Amino acid sequence: MTHRLALGRTAYDRGMATIEPSIFTRIISREIPADIVFEDDRLIAIKDINPQAPVHLLVIPKTQAYRNVAELALAEPELLAAMISVSQSLAEEHADGDFRLVFNSGDAAGQTVFHVHAHVLAGGLEESSLV
Ligand code: 5GP
Repeated sequence: MTHRLALGRTAYDRGMATIEPSIFTRIISREIPADIVFEDDRLIAIKDINPQAPVHLLVIPKTQAYRNVAELALAEPELLAAMISVSQSLAEEHADGDFRLVFNSGDAAGQTVFHVHAHVLAGGLEESSLV
């Protein structure tokens, strides 16, 4: 599986489009509009289309090589660290700096887009519940 993903990423990054672009890849390429709040060479952050908190942002690597945070952490831990750093900065910009970071991993956990992304939830969160 890892081997197939690595091949897929290489082919995609060369523009060969051998794998289906995710909804987030289509946002990154500006094929689909989104409210973009941050972008650099490796990451993009957008407002979630269906917010679950007063501030609900998605921080997304531009590569769609990793389906979930465990795959990302194993392969590119520094990219995961960059996601967390950007999440902190966005929480400071859009709320009071406190935030909850959620990575849904797998169907049963509610993941619907299998292109790794962090949900940054902030601004008046309930303290008593994680779900
Ligand atoms: P997941 O369920 O995979 O953890 O999170 C996917 C998130 O992407 C959901 O919170 C959903 O609202 C958001 N989402 C899905 N499609 C779009 C879209 O086209 N634009 C934006 N901004 N968010 C989207």
